[in-house]
Amino acid sequence: MNHEASRSLYDRALSVMPGGVNSSVRAAPQPYPIFVDRGDGGHVIDADGNRYVDWIQGLGPLLLGHDMPEGLQAAVQSRAAEGPMYGMPTEIEVEHAEFVCRHVPSVEMIRFVNSGTEATVSACRLARAITGRNKILIMQGGYHGAQETTLVSGDADDPKPSSAGVPQAFADHTVPVPFNDPAAAEAAFETHGDDIAAVLVEPIQANMGIVYPEDGYHDELRSLCDEYGSLLIFDEVITGFRVGGLQCAQGKFDIDPDLTTFGKIIGGGFPVGAIGGKTEYVEQFSPAGDVFQAGTFSGHPVTMAAGLETLRFCAENDVYDHVNGLGRRLREGLSDIVADHAPEYTVVGSDSLFKLVFTRADGAPQDECCANGCRQDHACSRYDACPKRGTDVRRAETDRYARLFRPAMREQGILVSQNQFEANFVAYGHTESDVEETLEAYKEAL
Ligand SMILES: *Cc1c(COP(=O)(O)O)cnc(C)c1O
Repeated sequence: MNHEASRSLYDRALSVMPGGVNSSVRAAPQPYPIFVDRGDGGHVIDADGNRYVDWIQGLGPLLLGHDMPEGLQAAVQSRAAEGPMYGMPTEIEVEHAEFVCRHVPSVEMIRFVNSGTEATVSACRLARAITGRNKILIMQGGYHGAQETTLVSGDADDPKPSSAGVPQAFADHTVPVPFNDPAAAEAAFETHGDDIAAVLVEPIQANMGIVYPEDGYHDELRSLCDEYGSLLIFDEVITGFRVGGLQCAQGKFDIDPDLTTFGKIIGGGFPVGAIGGKTEYVEQFSPAGDVFQAGTFSGHPVTMAAGLETLRFCAENDVYDHVNGLGRRLREGLSDIVADHAPEYTVVGSDSLFKLVFTRADGAPQDECCANGCRQDHACSRYDACPKRGTDVRRAETDRYARLFRPAMREQGILVSQNQFEANFVAYGHTESDVEETLEAYKEAL
């Protein structure tokens, strides 16, 4: 496979963009990223004309794949042709807001913004204003975008900035605890509860491996928030309209968060974010309330059209059956393959998310319960070896993934997540033969 054009583009990019990219993870592939020319269904074609089965799918937004259904394409093109945006309200924003409020159980009102990061920034500000408190409890190994409150590692008693440029004074207002550990959350509330404005949590940790919650974990968080008067914020930027279908992960897990952050899928491939929740809370955003929130591009008509038409298409077609069915087939196929080729590895995922984490699980035999992605089943013989929190994935064989496995997949025409931490995403444009081809490639590459 020839990658000369990508190599040369990367060479030029390194001179004018930090690390040659506009978002860090894109530079992870070894020895250099391939540059994309165009998409086609479940595939992408790179600058050298190579075709790949694409499981990156924009890192989550492209639930339908690279081809826009006719109605979606027409909506996007006509909105763009009518003048891209106005700085004044449009009907399409109202329709999109109505759709989300109708389908997501806890969402009565919504404010659209331009990225998932912007959504979590605004949700934290809102929670702090509502409660008059400072601290946000987050999960180690979670991801909530590139923002000061959540770029924090360490633990509840010793939070530290995880990026240069984040003041310690900001990190002091963040309480990181291990995911899936109700006792740790309880202890953090006992110490800091009077000043915890909110718990900010991904329903499934999906940015460092794919870590499924223990049974009842989110119920514990919900009751702690109730007990201490803190808000529960579900960050559904990745799970929203993917896990649990149109009711999102909160519907699947039957949890009633106070606020929900969205992004990715709700923009249909265009930049988007949103903060939804109970009217009494969301109405505190300006101009209804006094929590300042604004954005030149917020509720962008092209984005709103793309997002709404995507969601309508999902409501009217067998999108979730298709993507979840292929997701299941991939997880089952992978667990058969690793049983033979790499019994120490762990299959994770849910719905249309899948991943093979290169855990070092002492080769304990793959159990029945691994066949559809780890569910934190205590009866499973591999329970102790499976990731319980995103940070566990750091101990996996990340170099083997990056230097040996991923290039071997790419050379077989399969693009899996750009590093060991990101998820793989199934799209409506993927086919059964994409799945079979991918499973064959895993057999070769492992
Ligand atoms: C992607 C992601 C974000 C950040 O969204 P951006 O649009 O990249 O700013 C926040 N939270 C979660 C859970 C995400 O997956």
